[in-house]
Amino acid sequence: MQFRAKLVSWAEIEKWCRNIGKQVINSGFIPEAIIGLSRGGLVPARMLSDRLWIKDLYAVKTEHWGFTATKDGKAVLKRQGDPNINGKRVLVLDDITDTGESMKLAFDYIKSLSPAEIRTSTMLHITRSSFKPDFYSEEINEEKWAWFIFPWNVYEDLDNLIGRSMVVPSSASDIENILKDDYNISFADVDLPMLLNDLVDSGRLKLEKGKYSK
Ligand code: ADP
Repeated sequence: MQFRAKLVSWAEIEKWCRNIGKQVINSGFIPEAIIGLSRGGLVPARMLSDRLWIKDLYAVKTEHWGFTATKDGKAVLKRQGDPNINGKRVLVLDDITDTGESMKLAFDYIKSLSPAEIRTSTMLHITRSSFKPDFYSEEINEEKWAWFIFPWNVYEDLDNLIGRSMVVPSSASDIENILKDDYNISFADVDLPMLLNDLVDSGRLKLEKGKYSK
């Protein structure tokens, strides 16, 4: 096995975001603006904007992991026009704190925009992270570390994992077995052939005589 990867369902996303919403409400913190860290925090930020009735929603872009589970040097911030949060109470959303570097970088930048208060939150928090969010739904010990394949990143992640592991043209069921062996991924609730055909449509895989290749 190379490393563990886990397919995340939309039901889990809903559960985790609802859980964060409850924690924020119970804490007494009343955000006036939400910032999603792009791209992983965008969907959670939108869901919390709905749950907490906050229409003031911004995105801040950080980049850290260039390829799936391969660290691409340091986290960098891409400035795209500053959110208008001067004097406001702000809730920052990301998908996961793993090293914590992206959240730390974003936190320092957001602080420089003079909000009244900042609270941070992620759906998943790996205990080794150097940054601990104020609100998170699941805490994950380092031994349980996995690469989480979020539903909004499924094509990019599958494409990367298949590229690392497939050495000869393979059928859908061969690919399923390769991904099970190398990453312990379970495809019980996922239509893998459909996703593979989508990757063919976008030119990421070739399909000849029932076998997929890069
Ligand atoms: P942060 O600094 O936000 O704690 P990292 O810098 O460790 O997070 O990672 C930045 C981004 O890379 C995350 O927001 C997430 O989209 C992606 N990422 C990192 N670790 C994982 C993981 N174990 N599974 C899935 N995605 C991850």
